[in-house]
Amino acid sequence: MTAATHHGIHHVTAISGPAGRNARFYTQVLGLRLVKKTVNFDDPGTYHLYYGDSAGMPGTILTFFPYEHAAPGRLGVGETQETVFRVPEGSIGWWTQRLIEKGVAFEPIIKRFGETVLAFKDPDGMRLALVAVPGADAEEAWSTGEIPADHAIRGFHSVSLLLEEAGPTGAILTDVFGFREIGSEGSTTRFAVDGATVGGVVDIRAVGGFLRPRPGAGSVHHIAFRAKDDAEQEAMVKRLVENHGLAATEQKDRNYFRSVYFREPGHVLFEIATDAPGFAVDEPAAELGASLKLPAVLEEHRAEIEAVLPAIETPAAAA
Ligand code: ZN
Repeated sequence: MTAATHHGIHHVTAISGPAGRNARFYTQVLGLRLVKKTVNFDDPGTYHLYYGDSAGMPGTILTFFPYEHAAPGRLGVGETQETVFRVPEGSIGWWTQRLIEKGVAFEPIIKRFGETVLAFKDPDGMRLALVAVPGADAEEAWSTGEIPADHAIRGFHSVSLLLEEAGPTGAILTDVFGFREIGSEGSTTRFAVDGATVGGVVDIRAVGGFLRPRPGAGSVHHIAFRAKDDAEQEAMVKRLVENHGLAATEQKDRNYFRSVYFREPGHVLFEIATDAPGFAVDEPAAELGASLKLPAVLEEHRAEIEAVLPAIETPAAAA
C-alpha cells in the first residue's frame, strides 16, 4: 500500500437554495452521509450542512450554506467550475440509471485524462461529476437503503478551477499544498498529490477573457486544503507569505477543524483546514448529523436559532 498522505482537498463549501431540497439531493439521491448539522458561525440564522463519508474524513466533505431564497449564481473566471466525486470503476452505468430514475439531467459520458466521467448538476445548478476509479470498490463506503456500498461515492476525486491562467495558482498547489503537475489536456492542467486516495486532484482550466462570476445558489464559496495540524498550517502560511507574497487571515476555530483563509492569485477563496479534531468532537460517531450542534457561544441562543431554521429530514443509516 502507498503511504497515507494528509495532503489534498479537505472540504468544498458551496451556496445552495432551500436546505430541505439540498439535504434530500445529497443524502438520498447521491447517498452521502449528513455528518454535521450546524449553523453558519458568521450568520447563525442559516444552516451550515456538512456531507461526507461515514466519519466525515477530510477529502470527503462537501458543505453548504443554504439560503431559502438565494438567487442563482453564474459561473465565471476566478471560480470553482466543477466538484467531482469518486465511484467504483464498474459503477458509472448504475449511476446513469439512478440519475434517470431520479429525474437528474446529465451530460454524455466522456473521458478526461483517460478516466470515465459522468457530469450533472444539483438542484441549484452546481456542477458535479462522478469519475470511475479502479480499486475504489475495495474501500469502505457509507451505504443507504437505495445505494449499496458496491456503488456508493468514495469521497472527492477533484475540483476544477476556471482561471485566467494556470501558473500562479499552480505554484501555490505545488509549493504549499503538496501537489505535483502531472499533465495537461487541452486548456486543462492537472495537479495531483502522490499517494492520496481522496481529494488528491485539482484541475486548472485556463480560459483568459471569460466572464467574471456572480456568486449565488450553485456557486462554490471556497476550497479548503488539508494541513495535518496547527504546526503544518503555520508552515504553509509562512510559505505563502515568503514565496508568494500572500497573507492569510488569523486562525478561526470552526469546531471541527481550525482554519485560515486567503484569496489565491486566480481569485478563488482558499482555506487551509486542520485534519483535527474532526466531526466526532461534539456528538458520537454513530449519531453524526442527527441533531443540531451549536458552538458554545451560540448555545444560549438555541431556542431562537431553532425557531428560524427550516426543518430538514435527516435519514438514518441503512441497517
Ligand atoms: Zn471551509
